[in-house]
Amino acid sequence: MEVWKGQFARIDLTHKSFKIDTLPESLLKVYLGGRGLGVKLYFDEVNPEIDPLDEDNKIVIAAGALCGTGASGAGMASVVTKSPLTNTICCGRIRGYFGTELKFAGFDAVIIEGKAEHPVIIFISHQRISIKPALEYGQQVTSKTEKMIKEELNDRWKALESFILSVGPAGENKSNLATLVSDGLLLDGGAGIGAIFGAKNLKAIVISGSQDVTVNQGEKCLQSIFTLKNKFNTSPYTKEYLPNIGNGFLLDICLDKKTLPANNFKSSAQKIPNLDGDGIKSFTQRRRACFSCPIGCIRFSLEKQRMLYLDYESMAGFGYLCGIKTIDKIAELRYLCTELGLDVLNTASTIACAMELSEEGILKDVSLSFGSEDIEKIIKQIGKNKGFGAEIAKGGAHLAKALNRPDRFMGVKNSAIPPFEPRKLWGFGLHLATSNSGAYHLNGFTIIEELLGIHQVVEPFKYQDKPALVKQIQDTMAVLDALGYCVYILLALKLNNILPFYKFCFNTEVNIQELLNLGERIWNLERIFNIKAGIDYNDDVLPKRFTQEALEGNVCPLDQMLSVYYQERGWDKWGKPKEDILNRLGLKDAKDKDRS
Ligand code: SF4
Repeated sequence: MEVWKGQFARIDLTHKSFKIDTLPESLLKVYLGGRGLGVKLYFDEVNPEIDPLDEDNKIVIAAGALCGTGASGAGMASVVTKSPLTNTICCGRIRGYFGTELKFAGFDAVIIEGKAEHPVIIFISHQRISIKPALEYGQQVTSKTEKMIKEELNDRWKALESFILSVGPAGENKSNLATLVSDGLLLDGGAGIGAIFGAKNLKAIVISGSQDVTVNQGEKCLQSIFTLKNKFNTSPYTKEYLPNIGNGFLLDICLDKKTLPANNFKSSAQKIPNLDGDGIKSFTQRRRACFSCPIGCIRFSLEKQRMLYLDYESMAGFGYLCGIKTIDKIAELRYLCTELGLDVLNTASTIACAMELSEEGILKDVSLSFGSEDIEKIIKQIGKNKGFGAEIAKGGAHLAKALNRPDRFMGVKNSAIPPFEPRKLWGFGLHLATSNSGAYHLNGFTIIEELLGIHQVVEPFKYQDKPALVKQIQDTMAVLDALGYCVYILLALKLNNILPFYKFCFNTEVNIQELLNLGERIWNLERIFNIKAGIDYNDDVLPKRFTQEALEGNVCPLDQMLSVYYQERGWDKWGKPKEDILNRLGLKDAKDKDRS
């Protein structure tokens, strides 16, 4: 149990109480931690048909199993719940230090339930938990919230050792696009989670701890860490591109390969001066890293004590999808999203959808066109959930449907498609259609192989090999999320490279297939939850722009790939996991679980 803490905290906001409970080792061995443990705990406790904003909905925050062990790039925690944006199970990844600190505080996970009467902040420190009123924090932006909390701690060292996960005004006002922020960094994925914090009157969680995380064979773990670090030093992606440009290096590659979409995916992007890797490099003079990450890909500049962060998502989203042409403006818009606690991709994509509808004369409430710089006003309205912003705050799918043009929102299961072109990246298109969290990239980042060819050569327009590739990558990502690894380690490592560390850490030998089975189990459990929530094969679709409107002669052949993908997964033709797969994965009980 040394690597795991073997316990979780259940925090009841309604009764202002908490209880510490044990986690059996048998459960931890099967689900590890992070997304795996989070999905399992959530699945067992919450009726899939629940309204995400209902008081009975819960939030599980689980540290990746390797958080605190010193494994390079393994500092992620997962937030699992049902999102009001997608009505699916969803998982947001917390970067930075929060996940590791959760372990240092003595917990593998926290379950938050109920609803506080007024805004509160949860403090977790060395197995002590308190719930304090936070009325004065209401509607504060996230940087101010972090500052106020640190001042309130009234101890410089304590402030330095405390890590905060907070919601901005967008979440408090229950925008479906709201997410959370930790240490100035938005969650990766998990749009809508902020609204659940808001519905529970939970403004923030503050965590600090000092317990050790002990690995089984320390010396050998250390050697293994150095071996893996050497691999990071030999890949140009982890040695050079990520540290110097962040994930913005993908802009140059996508521009070159014409896989970067522009103007709500109407066309392939033409390079806009300065909106590329060099632009990010010269704009951001500083970088930082998550816990125990030797890569340090978080590129930012400091201006009047504001951390102006730039990455692929903001540059491609606000820059190319919305047509904003200046890097300063994009940095400001991204900063505004962080302050309000808004998911950047869904915000940018929904605005791009509104721009197209407005240019077509279908949307008449506001006048917008691609490149309109006044979108700042709209983002502020989304944060307040007022005016036209209230329409956008429900998400792009809602906006487009209300105007009888659902095809104008480029999303799946109401969640925005990340700016990589599915008509050129067919595996990515298949992943988006089948993703358990709605369109989202980091739970099936086929880009690593389809675009970059890091570990395998993928023929771009051969649909037959995509289903197996997508399944393999989706399962791999689920394993990484459970262990707490950042997706970018895959730019230098293969999954089998981490086997020695795993063995020395847990004193257990596993092979690749066993790890992939673990990922497959998580994927199937999420799928079962969604099926019980009313999501089915009819939702495994892409907007018709990608399947019917050719771009440079190509559409995404989703139908041909989807049935093979279902077979590959051992699902029936309606996309439901078959009995033998569930038996193999030990999920038979999950399917049969009666929620009535
Ligand atoms: S590569 Fe970047 S996002 Fe990933 S763990 Fe390192 S610093 Fe964090």
